[in-house]
Amino acid sequence: MILKKMFIDGKWVDAKNGQTRTIINPFNQEEIATVAEGDQSDAIAAIVAARQAFDQGDWPNTPVTERASIVQKIAELIERDKEELAELESLDTGKTVEESRVDMDDIAGVFRYYAEIGDKNGGEIIPSPVPNSVSKVVHEPVGVCGQITPWNYPLLQASWKLAPALVTGNTLVMKPSEITPLTTVKVFELIEEAGVPAGVANLVLGAGHSVGAELSTNVDVDLISFTGGIETGKKIMQAASVNVKKIALELGGKNPNVVFSDADFETAVDQAMNAVFFHAGQICSAGTRLIIEESIHDEFVKALVERVKNIKLGSGFDEDTQMGPLISAEHLAKVESYVETGIKEGAKLVLGGKRPEDPALQNGFFYLPTIFTDCTTNMSIVQDEAFGPIITVEKFQTEEEAIKLANDSIYGLAGGVWTNDIVKAERCVAKMRMGTVWINEFNLYFPHAPWGGFKQSGIGRELGKLGLEEYTETKHIFHNLDPKPINWFGK
Ligand code: NAD
Repeated sequence: MILKKMFIDGKWVDAKNGQTRTIINPFNQEEIATVAEGDQSDAIAAIVAARQAFDQGDWPNTPVTERASIVQKIAELIERDKEELAELESLDTGKTVEESRVDMDDIAGVFRYYAEIGDKNGGEIIPSPVPNSVSKVVHEPVGVCGQITPWNYPLLQASWKLAPALVTGNTLVMKPSEITPLTTVKVFELIEEAGVPAGVANLVLGAGHSVGAELSTNVDVDLISFTGGIETGKKIMQAASVNVKKIALELGGKNPNVVFSDADFETAVDQAMNAVFFHAGQICSAGTRLIIEESIHDEFVKALVERVKNIKLGSGFDEDTQMGPLISAEHLAKVESYVETGIKEGAKLVLGGKRPEDPALQNGFFYLPTIFTDCTTNMSIVQDEAFGPIITVEKFQTEEEAIKLANDSIYGLAGGVWTNDIVKAERCVAKMRMGTVWINEFNLYFPHAPWGGFKQSGIGRELGKLGLEEYTETKHIFHNLDPKPINWFGK
């Protein structure tokens, strides 16, 4: 098996300590790759390269149109190698190849979008209150960016960070999740092919407590952008205080999906299912908290159960598979214990709640689609992020109650409302404390709109214009065209 290396200062290198890590397919635990397993010393080497490329290299001062055309080229190369990338992502994560193909289109779209808007973030002349002067506001790159990504959407999350950082003239060190690094390694090959200069984009593979911790604490890193779990996010926020790094955090979610009785029933059932079971529920914005109006509750749950029990589990490479495995044995154990807690807390298990019995699935980390009813907000299964194929159902009688339930969370990433009453819909979304709120929709996103969380779901925004601004510092330049002594202290 070919060893996948790290990319530091324009060279493909092994870990300094010679360590490697075996990557396995979560569908059958077969070994699919061996990758370099870097540590703190490799992270430092990459930071030094990125620092030098920023302080002494040409990239920050390269015309933005030139940087944008390189970012555009990366999009084209991703499209060229889409099939290879999609298959790698499915091997690494277990998700269906069909889902991975959609991801690759989205990823190319993210690079294209930032190539297009990169040069629209120019400065502006603002009216100066001082006669004979010019006041300009300009946006400059932040510097060296540390970028840390999770395993659920490995390349998609990487693209949200790489594209805006590159087009705005930053240099960077990326650390993908140690269990799903393969597509990120491949995209760094494409970054090299597209002509990004040595030292500008660096890739270090390895564990969070070593490589990730170094990126968060090293004083030569100016910005840390992290996507992952809330507990890791807290550690990074603390670590980043060492030199008051700029921080961007995309953390977890426990997302409410509110269905009123006047919603289109069939569509709401279908989308309530899609909101959770894509990628086996391992989606930060999954609509895991289904909040249903009491008058349709029983009928809705019945229809949902009927449909969910037919979800076909299997290999992401089989055309009829609808849901793949969870990412790892460790994550499967977490989901199992979460379900046990739900049962102890008094929630009613109406579907799933165990591993499938199909002999063909025994080597994979599979878990059956699971539905709990009779849930209340004091239960930990309603409050904690399970990141698995689980829906908890709560019910409400009034609009006020629905909103109160929806907001009863430390998280505020996303939420949805289903109703045909547009005034009610607008009233509800105005009160929902989340970074994205869908009306008669769930989980849809595109590169033009910002993504991020209220409350403990994070800090800052990715995607959209705000996702570009995260990677810039704003500078006010005041130019006095007629300087004179002030004589404040006398002659
Ligand atoms: P995680 O927090 O365990 O790991 C994420 C990354 O952080 C990995 O690369 C890991 O190696 C690294 N890391 C771990 N400890 C570290 C440390 N001490 N210092 C620096 N880096 C460290 O998360 P995960 O299990 O990989 O991903 C699942 C989580 O990601 C879920 O909570 C999910 O909601 C969240 N997520 C959020 C979004 C979003 O847009 N808000 C998107 C995808 C995933």
